[in-house]
Amino acid sequence: MTQIYDKVALIGLGLIAGSIGYAAKRAGVVGQISGYARSGDTRAAALELGFVDTVADSPADAVRDADLVILCVPVGAMAQVARQIAPALKPGATVSDVGSVKQAVVDAVLPHLPENVEFVPAHPMAGTEHSGPHAGFAELFENRWCLITPLPQNDPAAVARLEDFWRALGSQIETMDVVHHDLVVAVTSHAPHLIAYTMVGVADDMERVSQTEVVNLSAAGFRDFTRIAASDPTMWRDVFLNNRAATLEILGRFTEELFALQRAIRKGDGDKLFDYFTHTRAVRKSIIDAGQDTDAPDFGRSGAKE
Ligand code: NAP
Repeated sequence: MTQIYDKVALIGLGLIAGSIGYAAKRAGVVGQISGYARSGDTRAAALELGFVDTVADSPADAVRDADLVILCVPVGAMAQVARQIAPALKPGATVSDVGSVKQAVVDAVLPHLPENVEFVPAHPMAGTEHSGPHAGFAELFENRWCLITPLPQNDPAAVARLEDFWRALGSQIETMDVVHHDLVVAVTSHAPHLIAYTMVGVADDMERVSQTEVVNLSAAGFRDFTRIAASDPTMWRDVFLNNRAATLEILGRFTEELFALQRAIRKGDGDKLFDYFTHTRAVRKSIIDAGQDTDAPDFGRSGAKE
């Protein structure tokens, strides 16, 4: 494949940055990749693993001469790194990010950047419950959606180039505005994570259910919740703090539905439950038909999520 960017800088060197680095190298679409993470241990691991060619001692040094800079840090750290890289950005460079929330990231990043760079926010809808530099892998983005949320002032050529980059990593592209993005991911990702965290918390809290019973009998559905509830605490704290309105909106609707089902159970309304579950089963089928999961009976244990 032809080269899309000469130099790419990854700020934050965990699961997502590692996967970008491996996938970009495999596709042959970048000349070189530099990186920066907060800790020396992470920087050393990234260099040794080889998903970056160089690491720098500061975010500013990492982005010097880069044509594309991708912020791969937790949402709550975006403002700080934007401030740190701003003076060193190459005029005409594209700055992007992978944050799970978009409006809050735009608000945090944009004020710090000079006018001669393009900030094009993005969110790859792919991940696992693992984090850190050792968690990345080249196939993470294959056939997953990358949501690009261009800003009205963006140069269309810069947006198109970023889309080409994500396509080369294996992604399918969808563009939408930031507000719509935050609502969509509240339904598909953020509220489900909160529900999983809650369900695991409930089981953990029930002293009548011994630890062994919860662990040994977990295959009955609970196991899938525990996988999601093992997701990185820093990342998910930042997601909920920064997508407050949309998440609360969806959780309000969720609570209404839950009460309706609770009432159906109390009244012994089997028809209501049967119809509801028939409808939700059709949603699952449409996800499989769209190639976003397999029908294999070990659903959820080997695939990517988010
Ligand atoms: P991760 O594996 O925990 O990696 C985060 C990286 O950011 C680490 O290298 C960490 O460095 C670095 N970092 C944290 N604070 C920093 C700071 N102030 N300055 C410089 N580096 C800093 O996280 P991830 O899963 O790759 O997630 C990164 C971003 O992708 C988040 O915004 C998240 O919302 C988004 N995202 C995640 C998923 C998912 O499922 N995981 C999916 C899509 C999008 P140290 O190791 O030195 O602490």
